[in-house]
Amino acid sequence: MFATLSDRLADTFKNLRGKGRLSEADIDATAREIRIALLEADVALPVVREFVAAVKDRARGEEVSGALNPAQQIVKIVNEELVGILGGETRRLRFAKTGPTVIMLAGLQGAGKTTLAAKLALWLKEQGRSPMLVAADLQRPNAVNQLQVNGQRAGVTVFAPEPGNGVGDPVGVARDAMAEARRTLHDVVIVDTAGRLGVDAELMQQAADIRDVVQPDEVLFVVDAMIGQDAVTTAQAFLEGVGFDGVVLTKLDGDARGGAALSIRSVTGRPVMFASSGEKLTDFDVFHPDRMASRILDMGDMLTLIEQAEKTFDSDQALKAAQKLSGQGGAEFTLDDFLEQMQQVRKLGSMSKIMGMLPGMGQFREQLENFDEREIDRIQAIIQSMTPAERANPKMIDGSRRARIAKGSGRAVMDVNQLVDRFFEARKMMQQMARGGGMPGMPGMPG
Ligand code: GDP
Repeated sequence: MFATLSDRLADTFKNLRGKGRLSEADIDATAREIRIALLEADVALPVVREFVAAVKDRARGEEVSGALNPAQQIVKIVNEELVGILGGETRRLRFAKTGPTVIMLAGLQGAGKTTLAAKLALWLKEQGRSPMLVAADLQRPNAVNQLQVNGQRAGVTVFAPEPGNGVGDPVGVARDAMAEARRTLHDVVIVDTAGRLGVDAELMQQAADIRDVVQPDEVLFVVDAMIGQDAVTTAQAFLEGVGFDGVVLTKLDGDARGGAALSIRSVTGRPVMFASSGEKLTDFDVFHPDRMASRILDMGDMLTLIEQAEKTFDSDQALKAAQKLSGQGGAEFTLDDFLEQMQQVRKLGSMSKIMGMLPGMGQFREQLENFDEREIDRIQAIIQSMTPAERANPKMIDGSRRARIAKGSGRAVMDVNQLVDRFFEARKMMQQMARGGGMPGMPGMPG
């Protein structure tokens, strides 16, 4: 998602590269390109207007800074404005001071509510909470069953009406569920409500009735990011009909252009709180405006990657690797580390998904999409054909050693050469990245 927008913006910034200072014409041209990029991404027109005006204003007024060149300055402004329209600060869930925290989900059918309910429950459970899911979607024939299956996968309690009982009375189910949650001391109650294919008055009324019964601490509007501008229209209808505190964007793994994500906060005044990016229960995360902005600008989503990595890596190992990368602690990053990292990284998910989060990788998007996961096996075979001394000190791998390694791993000498070259390149890049920090030296930034 956001691929086209990212590419467009990157092109815009590229045009500014090498300019000593920005003329009025440069600023106008840049503003025009940003406007087109946003419109193509299906961002709502009023949001586009405001955004472009703000960027222009700031580009004109900005003090010439010693640290940043004009192109970088524009990137910085665009980044900050993007963070702004995405909601600024990360909006976290508010928990009730007493009694169970009640989270109610609303949205159209197919938005991903039922899936999301289970994801949210699992996420809360992992934080030591004891959530209960409530099946108050009695509209869709299979919704109750689906929630039960998902709840089971997440290992959380599901409160559902007995088959044949309570059908047609979701408000009654919600009421019973609250009593049950109090009795069984669940500290979070997640209420899944019915959606229709389109907005209708009856649906709104039912959701409002459930809301009145469960008195939610948070009403979350769940919306499919793929529907673009329609997401905004639907959101407005739900805002009037039921009201909500925050938005959950789903299907961010699809080819949504980003319009929903970038417009919804400005139009509804409600922040995006969570994002769902796949069908697996763990494809779910808190929505961080700053990280999303840097992802759009292709500065990479290092923080998300680091957070995910921390979950997967053993922390000691991660720390050691980080120290090696930054050249701290005296140890150098070796081919053994390289291999180990790759194997660890592979546990995080597909290589292309991970590389996509790294800064400056936008230009490799096509290669990444075609990335052959078996490549890691080949690399592994080559590295394993090296002696420990060679792995520790790759500089010693000369021509005759390369020939031997190639033979041992059943690969061509060219493959060995390529791997060694890539290793040195990667090491250099990672060391720069680790040391760099801050805007000016950031890879992937024009300048
Ligand atoms: P509901 O009608 O709002 O309860 O929607 P569901 O939870 O049944 O989801 C509708 C469909 O979208 C299902 O096939 C889900 O597996 C799928 N889905 C939900 N969330 C995501 C997501 O983040 N990414 C993708 N690719 N599919 C999703």
